Amino acid sequence: MGKVIAIANQKGGVGKTTTAVNLSACLADLGNRVLLVDIDPQGNATSGAGIEKADMDECVYNVLVEDLEAEKVCVPTVVENLEAIPATIQLAGAEIELVPTISREVRLKKALEPIRETYDYIIIDCPPSLGLLTINALTAADSVLIPVQCEYYALEGLSQLLNTVRLVQKHLNKQLAIEGVLLTMFDARTNLGIQVIEEIKKYFQDKVFRSIIPRNVRLGEAPSHGQPIIMYDPKSRGAEVYSELAKEVIANVQRVR
Ligand code: ADP
Ligand code: MG
Repeated sequence: MGKVIAIANQKGGVGKTTTAVNLSACLADLGNRVLLVDIDPQGNATSGAGIEKADMDECVYNVLVEDLEAEKVCVPTVVENLEAIPATIQLAGAEIELVPTISREVRLKKALEPIRETYDYIIIDCPPSLGLLTINALTAADSVLIPVQCEYYALEGLSQLLNTVRLVQKHLNKQLAIEGVLLTMFDARTNLGIQVIEEIKKYFQDKVFRSIIPRNVRLGEAPSHGQPIIMYDPKSRGAEVYSELAKEVIANVQRVR
């Protein structure tokens, strides 16, 4: 049965989508069957995986709000072994439309159940909020991967996120584990980045991934070409480090077994 990993942090611009797309692509490149689920109405993971949003009749909205079978919206991406459930701007209404519905927090979990066997990994890209969409992701997930940008206020807001994780563990998903904290956009030229790493490691200890994502121009460029970094520039530092991260994620699964 596939492992479901939610990529979450309510702060915008910390590297959630970049991580969701590139971790998915690297896991697929290593021979795993992977599904990338985009639940951010901005749909950046969808376009980052090379899917043309304008061509979509249906998306994750129809699954969450209208009970459409997830299998019906799984589409291929530009990467072999990697499929995606896309998000379009239609999803923007879901956060409000779900409020009065039955079992609103478990809709994504229920939708993914019939297709979990099909994949080795299901990666969910969350929106920058702790609303119902993120709660759905945390409820559906086996673990949460938290990208943290190497900047001055890195720790700010994390206690709120961890509090939400604890609430989900208590009421909706006892199994939910912390996959790890991923340091992103690290700039080796500044002392600040190094201080942030020390601070995060003191707080999260062995939960911090050894792979640290550097600030890398090619990683920033790849989405506008609709390609994950391993396609856009496989020799770049960004491609190397996201491949290392994928291996750490695979090792985590093997350690548990
Ligand atoms: P989030 O999904 O958390 O809002 P994104 O992954 O979209 O964050 O990243 C925010 C912006 O920073 C995007 O334009 C993205 O291309 C860029 N970016 C993300 N990670 C890196 C990196 N390691 N190096 C350079 N640019 C990056
Ligand atoms: Mg994003």
